[in-house]
Amino acid sequence: MLKYREHQGSFYDADYICEQLIPQDSFYRKFREIVAPLLKDKQFESMYCKDNGRPAISPALLAMATILQFHKDLSDREMEQACMYDIQIKYALGLSLDERPFDHSSLGDFRKRLLENGKEKEIFDRILSHLIKQGLIEKNEIQRIDATHVIADIAVPTMVQLVKKSIFEILKPLKGRYKDAYERIASEIDMTEYTRESVNSEGPGRPDAEKKKRKLVEVVNDARAVLRQTRAVGDKDIRKKKDMLRRILQENLEKDQDGEVKEKQHQEKPKDMLVSPIDPDARCGRKSKTKKFIGYRANVAETVESRFITNIVVMPGNRNDGKTAVETIIEQKGLGLIPAKVIGDTAYGEGLIRKQLKEHGSEMIAPLCTIRSPHARLVYPKSMFKYDEKKKTLTCPQGVTTRESFRDYQKDITIYHFPLSNCGKCQVRSKCTNSADGSFQTVSCNEQSSSLY
Ligand code: SF4
Repeated sequence: MLKYREHQGSFYDADYICEQLIPQDSFYRKFREIVAPLLKDKQFESMYCKDNGRPAISPALLAMATILQFHKDLSDREMEQACMYDIQIKYALGLSLDERPFDHSSLGDFRKRLLENGKEKEIFDRILSHLIKQGLIEKNEIQRIDATHVIADIAVPTMVQLVKKSIFEILKPLKGRYKDAYERIASEIDMTEYTRESVNSEGPGRPDAEKKKRKLVEVVNDARAVLRQTRAVGDKDIRKKKDMLRRILQENLEKDQDGEVKEKQHQEKPKDMLVSPIDPDARCGRKSKTKKFIGYRANVAETVESRFITNIVVMPGNRNDGKTAVETIIEQKGLGLIPAKVIGDTAYGEGLIRKQLKEHGSEMIAPLCTIRSPHARLVYPKSMFKYDEKKKTLTCPQGVTTRESFRDYQKDITIYHFPLSNCGKCQVRSKCTNSADGSFQTVSCNEQSSSLY
């Protein structure tokens, strides 16, 4: 149940005592003057039950505390302490000196509630909208976009741990809600393997390859027993966790020649495979050719002149930066922002992104995407071809010029062909093309990016 924050002035209020102490240009004073009035309990009303449960801590206070927590890079417990003992934080939040406003767990609960109610951008949008109203951001101001990786807060499990954790996640709710099924499983498998303490372990000592293999067979048999004994359980949450376990088994395991279970080679596993039952949306991504990470990628857009972040869109770690580029820009339309131009790197240079942004009144300025499709690997990249914007011709590395082209309207690109009469006799054809018949080279280009050739 929502409880509105009532504030009655008291001798112990931090503002009475700190008015002289906090400098005029202090971040905390500005936060209190500008950000605090933008956040009201009423805006979060829909996240709370109207007439049931204990009165909640003021959501506006928790929203402000969350912003300050991230600004100072504090953990939930550190933020709880700061709210009690840090005079600047108390001043910014309008707390009295003797006030202990909330337990650290309230911050986590509040974040969860924001996500569950689709309000995770509420605070961000309110502040952004205020900046636009104040004229600090021009509605068509040029923006730049780039992606950064976000590492998931999970330990990277081994294959055995991954299966064990998935079983543990099913057994947890089963124990309380479906005692019969739980008892049947307990009679088939060793439950001491699936306690909170032992679920991350593969047994005592450092396991050698043979021991690991035996353990894997053992836990897979346990997984099958769990799936079998819970067939009649209709609970949505448990069904979801069972699907996750099935998916992990299918994506990672196969049978060897003797019919024994074994882990698939890395290259045989699907690219979009699940990496953790604790954080099922996290994926394995790459920071560079050699550095991998598990987690997410976030596309961040910011204004070039005023340097305010205008949107952040998060996607799984294995997605290409350009995948949510259009979404990152056009979502801002709701606040009235339509950047005249968006600047990005090569990942944003695809024709389709350019076309979609153009339809929304924005122009993508990015180097032409030279990422080649898998079947075109090991051939000359597009950057080795020269485009003549005036003559609308394309010249290949061997100096052959072609006008033969057609427009792909779906992607908003032009595709150039080099004829067989030239390519057929070419000395470097094997380096230039691997098209099925090896007859000619095709190159797609976006004419707006002609300067990039
Ligand atoms: S194969 Fe054709 S397009 Fe490629 S370099 Fe040779 S002539 Fe030019």
